[in-house]
Amino acid sequence: MDKVILTGDRPTGKLHVGHYVGSLRRRVELQNSGDFKKIFIMIADAQALTDNADNPEKIRQNIIEVALDYLSCGLDPDKSNLLIQSQISELCELSFYYMNLVTVSRLQRNPTVKSEIQMRNFEASIPVGFFTYPISQAADITAFKATTVPVGEDQLPMIEQTREIVRKFNSIYGDALIEPDVLLPDNKACMRLPGTDGKAKMSKSLGNCIYLSDSPDDVKKKIMSMFTDPNHLQVSDPGKVEGNPVFIYLDAFCKDEHFERYCPDYACLDEMKEHYTRGGLGDVKVKKFLNNVIQEELEPIRNRRKEFEKDIPSVYDMLKKGTENAREVAAQTLSDVKSKMKINYFDDMELIAEQSKKYN
Ligand code: ATP
Ligand code: MG
Repeated sequence: MDKVILTGDRPTGKLHVGHYVGSLRRRVELQNSGDFKKIFIMIADAQALTDNADNPEKIRQNIIEVALDYLSCGLDPDKSNLLIQSQISELCELSFYYMNLVTVSRLQRNPTVKSEIQMRNFEASIPVGFFTYPISQAADITAFKATTVPVGEDQLPMIEQTREIVRKFNSIYGDALIEPDVLLPDNKACMRLPGTDGKAKMSKSLGNCIYLSDSPDDVKKKIMSMFTDPNHLQVSDPGKVEGNPVFIYLDAFCKDEHFERYCPDYACLDEMKEHYTRGGLGDVKVKKFLNNVIQEELEPIRNRRKEFEKDIPSVYDMLKKGTENAREVAAQTLSDVKSKMKINYFDDMELIAEQSKKYN
């Protein structure tokens, strides 16, 4: 079976380093591995509207930001289809049929949706579209016959929901859909990068992000004021590295070679962690090191972005082409789905013959 990737992001803001370590960096590696027949990277604007219905302008403005972030990280439109979700109406049609295969109580059990509802203070006023977005995500994944979905850990319940829908569809109507596998980051720190404020997840909605397009000064300011171990008051105090976002970021970004360049007192991260735990290593020194490591990673991304920013019309052109390619695939899947469900009346010669026999 051909291997196909589908993944994407909500255009609710520029992309941040959480997206980068949790998904983007991996996507670029997978894209360049040559192991995949097709790759679809989706800007999920329709999904973003499910909790931003009153602010469509925000979504409209951020589509280009996400596209620029993609290109600057190395996603290549010659190898990957970059597409805009709302321009493929087949996805809505698929969602509509999948809705019949999922119960309300099953949706209510989705832990990611539960915590997102809490975070947004929706309480009793949850938009139906938001509540059902895991179903629309199943439509996205299956429409492109994706076998592989590289995402962060928060997306696990969505992939599980998709797999359930696929199994149910195939068992009721006959095989038409492919059960996807999730591809999580291999490094634990990258699964769910915490915010600079120490909150469990760096997230556009929480305002605790280091953006890929932040200026070097902004990145430095954010890093130098990051939350660390609150009990590590004096340099001489023993510190905690577990749950300390500065060290989690180092786990996600730092390689041994960075020590040679920026902090030759240590050979590797374990040595630095050991000193911090023992006491005698100040937060400022660790943060300065982290700043150097992250700046080195972000600089080429920032520079490439500046190049792409010079020709915005061609970025929209690229999105249009990616969307057109993707739409062809989604239309084929929808047609397969409808014929399996036998709701393809005008193409169903058997049905027409059967009905005319009944009356004549
Ligand atoms: P929003 O707050 O609007 O939901 P978000 O920051 O959660 O935005 P999404 O667009 O929902 O970003 O997520 C896109 C992808 O990035 C998903 O694969 C998700 O798992 C991954 N991702 C998002 N935030 C992080 C993070 N902090 N650490 C690791 N991966 C992340
Ligand atoms: Mg999210």
